[in-house]
Amino acid sequence: MRREGKMTLQLNRRQWLKTSAVAAAGLIVSRGYTSCQKKGALPRSSFKEKEPLRLGNNESPYGISDSARQAIIGSIDQSNRYPHGHYLQLKELIAEKEKVSAENIILSAGSTEVMAALIHVYGTQGSILVGDPTYFDFIIYANKARCPLQQVPLNEDFEHDLPAMERRIDRDTRLIYICNPNNPTGSITPGDKLRSFCERASEKALVVVDEAYHEYVEDKAYASLIDLAREGRDVVVTRTFSKVFGLAGLRVGYGVARPGIIKELERMERNFAPVAWLSLKAAIASYKDPRFPRIVKQKNKEVKSYLYQELSSLNLACVPSHTNFVLFKVNRDSGKMAEDFERRHILIRPFEFKGQYWIRVSLGTREEMQTFVSVLRDFA
Ligand code: PLP
Repeated sequence: MRREGKMTLQLNRRQWLKTSAVAAAGLIVSRGYTSCQKKGALPRSSFKEKEPLRLGNNESPYGISDSARQAIIGSIDQSNRYPHGHYLQLKELIAEKEKVSAENIILSAGSTEVMAALIHVYGTQGSILVGDPTYFDFIIYANKARCPLQQVPLNEDFEHDLPAMERRIDRDTRLIYICNPNNPTGSITPGDKLRSFCERASEKALVVVDEAYHEYVEDKAYASLIDLAREGRDVVVTRTFSKVFGLAGLRVGYGVARPGIIKELERMERNFAPVAWLSLKAAIASYKDPRFPRIVKQKNKEVKSYLYQELSSLNLACVPSHTNFVLFKVNRDSGKMAEDFERRHILIRPFEFKGQYWIRVSLGTREEMQTFVSVLRDFA
């Protein structure tokens, strides 16, 4: 289990409420997503009998696309060869979509590898500025690299508090990490405010914008900041194939930045083949298939509104989410609650902000969420 455990934070928050009632099945987690993936239908859940219900890592429950599966099967016999020489195709596909060139892109075994490289190359030269709470794995990597961290609480709307962050930039600040949408809150920091913050802040330090959940966002207030990387500013945008494309287990991510930054980061590659052959082929096929992420997004949206209703019926406040997970407030120790859930074979994440307890639950399939809600009714 990844360590996104409890965090104690200085937050003074509004209450968000959503609503409803639920039918609920028993304890037994939903079974039997059979393996046939018909054309036009969603693939099976990766969840299998006797495995816990995985609602703790923000994985997609909808498997991988048919095109990715076919690409893997079709490429398997070339697995005896090293994959170099083949990266360019994926870089060029991304570059074409994002209107940059292949030299603006670094590929890696998950976007967290790009973040780790950024921390090592830039963060270790001074200190790192982050929101609070934010993506905990980034904090863990910074701690492992022994980088001093300046943490600035999110504002009341769960946005990054950009004016406060700007005030905290000093001569030691080398890296600024902005997670948008943010994990664990699922909230967004509006694109216009973030853009002008990044334009100024990138004059003083390198800004990393983690857009892992970019594909899920529909709110017009949100904007990707790849255009700032395209303009050649000191801004790096990271993205991943782990979420809407469902390739978390294959480990493919990328970063977009000006070529000088990409070259610096590539110096950190310890492995001359940073993405495995089958992962590369699956990512290329996924990227060319717009239909699959569309279906996944739609399902995610439906399940999210179901969960909002159920939370509301239980009078549990939640943060409106722009992602594939939801953070909600609970009235008892969320760490203990997560343990209770685990005893019932359901994995979720507990958080604690300034004396208030929260649970972050990833959005599984409708059936999986019905199971989750039935157990929540016993514990909430
Ligand atoms: N960034 C954020 C904000 C995440 O929440 C996650 C996964 O949970 C990642 C990055 C992980 O990305 P990857 O699987 O590409 O390393």
